[in-house]
Amino acid sequence: MTRPIRATIDLAALRHNFGVARRHAGHAKLWAVVKANAYGHGLSRAVDALADLADGFALIELDRAVALREAGLKLPILMLEGFYTADELPLFIEHRLTPVLHRLDQLQTLQDARWPAALPVYLKLDTGMHRLGFDAAGLAAARAALAGRVADITLMTHFADADGPRGVDWQLERFASLTAGMDLPRSLANSAALLRYPHALGDWARPGIMLYGGSPFPQLMPAAELDLQPVMTLQSEIIAVQTLAAGDSVGYGCTFTADRPMKIGVVACGYADGYPRHAPTGTPVLVDGLRTRTLGRVSMDKLCVDLTELPAIVGVGGTAANEVFAGTTANEVVTGTTVTLWGRAGDTVLPADEVATAAGTISYELFCALAARVPVTEIG
Ligand SMILES: *Cc1c(COP(=O)(O)O)cnc(C)c1O
Repeated sequence: MTRPIRATIDLAALRHNFGVARRHAGHAKLWAVVKANAYGHGLSRAVDALADLADGFALIELDRAVALREAGLKLPILMLEGFYTADELPLFIEHRLTPVLHRLDQLQTLQDARWPAALPVYLKLDTGMHRLGFDAAGLAAARAALAGRVADITLMTHFADADGPRGVDWQLERFASLTAGMDLPRSLANSAALLRYPHALGDWARPGIMLYGGSPFPQLMPAAELDLQPVMTLQSEIIAVQTLAAGDSVGYGCTFTADRPMKIGVVACGYADGYPRHAPTGTPVLVDGLRTRTLGRVSMDKLCVDLTELPAIVGVGGTAANEVFAGTTANEVVTGTTVTLWGRAGDTVLPADEVATAAGTISYELFCALAARVPVTEIG
């Protein structure tokens, strides 16, 4: 027997979610953002699933971009942080990778490397994120350096609060004043802007999280209301059952103490699998498709779930939970019951967003953290 944890990647859901992005995009073309191993979903399977739908793929990692070309991908590839050092330029040129330029010294590097005039580049403008990008003077210098050398320039910026209260208009105004009179294509929207601000798309939008079924603003609108389907499901099994008396506590730090008799399940999933250690008691979880909660601290390989209130453990002969609780064979009865940490269990969905919110993070981080030791299967 192998350890029962597994992740399932639903490629039909990925394609469905891309269709949602397409519906929102109007005339804008779509970069499918597949950085960080397609947000933990597996780069090559995500690219294969989207290759006939996307207009191009955007990522960060040069070795992975080269691998996509070597696997035969013909679509444009956008490198969201451009190149870091001059020695990367030959690979950019050989594999026709579009760099995002955001620093003036990169222009000199392009010249030194004899960048072919026909290859496109992106110029990133800082409109308020204060992370990467040119200001007005930098943009003027960059355009002067590229004049007559590079034909295909797209102007790009990134929104800081498209998912939050400030929205995008303050940055759109800065972008408009920085780029006034420039007749060049624009790339603006991430998932949040694509879903929320139809006037902020530009010519090329860059959706990421929505493709994987995460809502960019789960507090405003859950994924299901956006017609987004979960792509990653993380499941394991109960490997032991414990009964607690009032006063017994659970796990490291004894952070949960029972105030009455309880039955708990021990699940083969911990932070070394990618489950967030900060998920507190009460984080939602599905046991055989039934919603319950975690108890106590998440440990490296295990976490505990509350079975006390579950009406019946379906799938193990329909045994009522109280019989299990009362019986002496409790371990045998529920050991092996499927536990869904996030994603789909039959018709029931536990959105990764809900787990992330409980743990004080975002679904992006949960997906990206899926550990290499978790076996992955594809469906769809
Ligand atoms: C990651 C990234 C995106 C995608 O953002 P989502 O919020 O996942 O849609 C878009 N643009 C840039 C520059 C990024 O780095």
